[in-house]
Amino acid sequence: MERRTLLKALALAFMARQAHAAPPKTMKDVEALQKDWKTFLPTGAATPSPTEPVKLSKDEWRKKLPGQSYSVLREESTERAGTSPLNNEKRAGIFACAGCDLPLFTSDMKFDSGTGWPSFFTSIPGVFETKSDRYLIYERTEYHCKRCGGHHGHLFDDGPPPTGLRYCNNGVALKFIPRDAKA
Ligand SMILES: [Zn+2]
Repeated sequence: MERRTLLKALALAFMARQAHAAPPKTMKDVEALQKDWKTFLPTGAATPSPTEPVKLSKDEWRKKLPGQSYSVLREESTERAGTSPLNNEKRAGIFACAGCDLPLFTSDMKFDSGTGWPSFFTSIPGVFETKSDRYLIYERTEYHCKRCGGHHGHLFDDGPPPTGLRYCNNGVALKFIPRDAKA
């Protein structure tokens, strides 16, 4: 193999590895993922912080959001399973709140849960607030975006190791920002 071809092949292999690292094995790997979330942003992208709250009236939200996103984020409804194109989103990037653009998850925090909703085993730190809701006979933990208060989904404890968590997120509550998009 010619040297230049070899170098190119190595560079491509390296980039592929960077786009999707192996799933984390230990909590230390998960912490590293959480710490490095900004490497999934497109170059030069500005990001809001969870501590800059977005407060809009009901009417303002209704105008800002498409109908389905409004019912999930502001009225806590749930989208039909299997309807979100984000179920199959495999590119490297950031999943941000559709209400306020706050980055919530990176593509390396996503896993295929087979439930029909985009699922994640951890999140970017400090972006959610949780509360319990009694649904039928069992208690579920519901999580909300810290910046705009938007309802995203429910947190379960049947996710993959090492976290054992499953953030079951409505796709319409998210927007995907591919890392390789031009800023
Ligand atoms: Zn939000």
